[in-house]
Amino acid sequence: MTRYGYHGKILHVHLDELRLEVETPPESFYRIYVGGSALGLYYLLKHTPAGADPLGPENTLTLALSVLTGAAISGQSRITAVAKSPLTGAVGDSQAGGFFPAELKFAGFDALVIHGKAPAPVYLWIHDGEAELRPAEHLWGKSTGEVDDLLKEALGDERIQILQTGIAGENGVRFAAIMNMANRANGRTGLGAVMGSKNLKAVVVRGKNRPKVADKKGLNELAKWGAQHFADSDVYGLGLLGTAEVVLPQNKAGGLPTHNWESGAFAGCEAISGERMAETILIERDTCYACTVRCKRVVEIREGPYQVEARYGGPEYETLATFGSYCGIDDLAAISLANQYCNAYGMDTISCGATIAWAMECFERGLITAADTGGLELRFGDAAAMVSMVEMIARRQGFGAVLAEGSARAAERLGRDAQDLVVAVKKQELPAHMPEVKRSLGLIYAVNPFGADHQSSEHDPSYKAYPARMAMLGLTEAQPNRVMNEEKVRFALRTQWLYSALDTFNMCQFVFGPAWHLYGPDQMAAAVQNITGWDATVDDLLRVGERRLNLLRAFNAREGIGREQDTLPKKLFQPRKGGKSDGIALDIETDLEWAKERYYALSGWDVATGAPTRAKLETLDLAWVADMLDGR
Ligand code: SF4
Repeated sequence: MTRYGYHGKILHVHLDELRLEVETPPESFYRIYVGGSALGLYYLLKHTPAGADPLGPENTLTLALSVLTGAAISGQSRITAVAKSPLTGAVGDSQAGGFFPAELKFAGFDALVIHGKAPAPVYLWIHDGEAELRPAEHLWGKSTGEVDDLLKEALGDERIQILQTGIAGENGVRFAAIMNMANRANGRTGLGAVMGSKNLKAVVVRGKNRPKVADKKGLNELAKWGAQHFADSDVYGLGLLGTAEVVLPQNKAGGLPTHNWESGAFAGCEAISGERMAETILIERDTCYACTVRCKRVVEIREGPYQVEARYGGPEYETLATFGSYCGIDDLAAISLANQYCNAYGMDTISCGATIAWAMECFERGLITAADTGGLELRFGDAAAMVSMVEMIARRQGFGAVLAEGSARAAERLGRDAQDLVVAVKKQELPAHMPEVKRSLGLIYAVNPFGADHQSSEHDPSYKAYPARMAMLGLTEAQPNRVMNEEKVRFALRTQWLYSALDTFNMCQFVFGPAWHLYGPDQMAAAVQNITGWDATVDDLLRVGERRLNLLRAFNAREGIGREQDTLPKKLFQPRKGGKSDGIALDIETDLEWAKERYYALSGWDVATGAPTRAKLETLDLAWVADMLDGR
C-alpha cells in the first residue's frame, strides 16, 4: 500500500543502553494519532508511569512531525514536543516551526521517542534513514549558536538542521525551551529541561527522502491560491511587522498586560511596537520551510549597551510584552537582548519575562529586598536589572536560581502575599492576552491541560469578524467580546477543538485556522486530503482535535490533576487600573465556576472532576485510555 505524507517509521531512542529501534506502525495508527501532539501523547501515556519525576529517566519525550510535514505548502513545517512538564507537573506540550521539522521528515522519520537517560551527553545524528548516537561532552555548556557552529563544522555540511537543549535545559530551569535554528523554540512547559535531564544535547538531521503526496495537482492549486491571496489577507500584516503588529492594538483595547498585570495599558507601548522595530533594528524577515508569510523577525544592534546578533532572530509580541510592558520597560534594545539570551540559553520568553515581572512587583512591595537579589534593585522599568536577571536565571546564579523555578514555585518560598501576585495557571505564567477584554480566554486559560495558553482557541473578537468561517464550525450566534454565556462556552470549546487539530497536524496557527488566517477550516481539510489521500471534512478535523484534547486531559486525570487545578489567578478577579480596561475584572462565579461546568458538560466529561468519561473516550477510539484510567 502506498503511504502518502509520512514514512511509517518512528525512531525509539533508548538512551540508557545507547540503543536505537525503528517502529513501523500501520496506516490505521496514523489515521487515529496523525502526528504532533496526539502522537506524542500516545507514547507519553504508554511509556511514562503515573507519578513519574518530570526530570527523571522515566519521563518519555516525543518529538513528533505529522502526516503533512515537509509538503510544498505554507505552514506545515512544525514539530511538537510532548512529555510530563517540569514546570506544571501536568502534561507538557509545545510546538515550534523552522526548517528542522521538514528536514527531519526528509531524513526519514515521522517522530522520535526518547526514553531513559544517557550515561553522558550525546547527540543524535539522523541522515537519509540512518541514525546514530554520538558523544556530545564538547557541546555541553555552550550557547545554541556555538553548538550550531561546532556541529556544522564537524559534519562538514552547512545545510544540516539542529534541534537542541541549551544551557538553561542543562541546568534544569523549569521553563527551559528546546531550540532549533538558535531562534525557534518549543518554548512552553519546560521541555528543554526534560531534554537536558536525559543528557541528550542535540538532534541533527539531513536528508532527501520526501514522502509522496496523494494529489500533487490539488496541493499545488491550494498553495497557488495562498500565494495569490496573501497580499489581500489579514495575515499580510504579520509578514510586514511580525506578531509585534498587535502591540498597539492590544494597548488600545486595554489588553496589553502591564506592571505584572496591574494594568492593561502601557505608556511606553509605541517604543516597543512592531512599527518601531521595523523603523529601527529590523534587518530581515525570516520564514519557515516553504512558507509565504515570512512572519519571523531578524534584528541587529551593533552599538550601545545592548548589542544583538542577527542569528538569534527578533522578539515576538509575547516577548515584547513580557520583557517590556509586564516589566514596565520601554527599551527595545534591552528587550531584544533579553530575547537573544533566551534563544542562546534556551528559555521560554513568556515564563522568563513574566517571572521577572512578578519578582519586580514583589520587590516594589517589599516582599523581596536587595539582600535577596544579591544587591540587584529589581524595580519596574529597570532594563539593566531585567537583562542581568535573564542570564542569572539561565545559569541558576544567585537569585536567578530561585526564579529558575518559575513564579509559582518561587512564591511558595515567600508566602501568601507573594503568591497572590503570581499570574499563572497550573504554575505556567499567563501569555500577553487579557481575558478581561476577551472573556472566553479566561475559560481556556483555566481548563487548558498544559496551563494558560493563548494559542489553544480562537479569541473572542473573531466570532463577529469572520462569520463565514465560524459557520463552518457550527458557530452562528456571534457574541460581544466581554460576555461569558452558553454560546461563548460553545465558541471556546469548538474553536479549541480546531486549534487542537492544528497542533496534531502540526499546522501553523498563522497560516491555517478558523478566522483571520490565510486558509480557513475547509482549506485545512483540503490540504489534509491532498497530501494524505484520506477523506477529510471539517468535522473530521474537529474530531481529531477533540481526541487530542481528551488525551491531554486523560494524562492529567491519571496524575490527579483536574477540576481543582482548572482555576485562574487571583489578580484576574481584581480590577485593572488605567486604559480602556480600567475597573474591569473577571467574575469568579460566571467567568470561572459556571463557565467551566458548562464546558465540562459540553465536552462529555465528568462535571465533578473534569476528567474524560469512559463513554467519551470510547467514541474517540480511546477505550485503552479509559482502561488505563480505571486501572485495568
Ligand atoms: S506564518 Fe510564520 S511561523 Fe508560521 S510557518 Fe510561516 S513563517 Fe513560520
